[in-house]
Amino acid sequence: MFKPNRTAMKLKTLTKSLIAMKKDQNENARKKQHVCAPCFYLHRPMKVGMQAFTTSECDLCFTPSTYPSSVVDKICLGCAEKRDLCAHCGDDLKAIEKQVSVLCNEIII
Ligand SMILES: [Zn+2]
Ligand SMILES: [Zn+2]
Repeated sequence: MFKPNRTAMKLKTLTKSLIAMKKDQNENARKKQHVCAPCFYLHRPMKVGMQAFTTSECDLCFTPSTYPSSVVDKICLGCAEKRDLCAHCGDDLKAIEKQVSVLCNEIII
């Protein structure tokens, strides 16, 4: 009996996500959400698993926001846009993009 290897499956998912990150085909949607590429393609699941709404406060202005899953963003869209930060991880968007482009050059598809 063939048993699917969980590690191999995880690796497959990770590879797919990395390729998606390199291609950045959802750039427009990603920019609209003000989220960096690693967060968008690697950390935030594309499909919503459980329909449980979660409320979380923005790390900077403490405005509560409601999210359609248990995946919440660190800062609100307003603060992310104002300071050019990733809404999900709260890091400097330009610095991350630079790092990503360097790393992506090492990934040969
Ligand atoms: Zn905020
Ligand atoms: Zn991020």
